[in-house]
Amino acid sequence: MINDGLLKILACPACHESVRVEGEKIVCTGCGRRYPIRDGIPIMLLDEAELPGEGPSGAAGASTDPDTETKVS
Ligand SMILES: [Zn+2]
Repeated sequence: MINDGLLKILACPACHESVRVEGEKIVCTGCGRRYPIRDGIPIMLLDEAELPGEGPSGAAGASTDPDTETKVS
C-alpha cells in the first residue's frame, strides 16, 4: 500500500498537481490521469498513464471534432 508520506512527494508529471490513491491506481487530482502501481511502486510515467475518459465509463469530453475544424474558407 502507498503511504501518505510518499503520496505527498508525488506529483503528476503532466500537470504537477497532487495525486491520490484510488484502488490500485494513483489518480491525479488535476488532470485526472491514472497511473498504475506495480509491486507497491507508483509508476509516475506519462507513457503508463491512462487518460481520463478512457475505459467503460468514458464521458464525452470537450474535445474538438475533427470533422468541423477545417471549415474555414
Ligand atoms: Zn495531472
